[in-house]
Amino acid sequence: MALAITEDCINCDMCVPECPNDAIYMGSDIYQIDTNKCTECEGYYDVPQCIPVCPVDCIITLAN
Ligand code: SF4
Ligand code: SF4
Repeated sequence: MALAITEDCINCDMCVPECPNDAIYMGSDIYQIDTNKCTECEGYYDVPQCIPVCPVDCIITLAN
């Protein structure tokens, strides 16, 4: 399981420091999540840390 950032991202940078896996990075236009690094915060926190800090709610869970 991993998360993804939609095109609604406003590049506010709030989510980046929350990620314990350094999975969030600046893409060509908006921030993106490296699905190979994102564990949904498993091993660090009970819930994904990036989702609640996003002011535009553009971080979504990818379907399996
Ligand atoms: S869910 Fe956790 S590991 Fe995945 S991108 Fe968000 S902060 Fe990083
Ligand atoms: S917190 Fe949301 S809007 Fe801000 S950079 Fe991250 S994904 Fe984009």
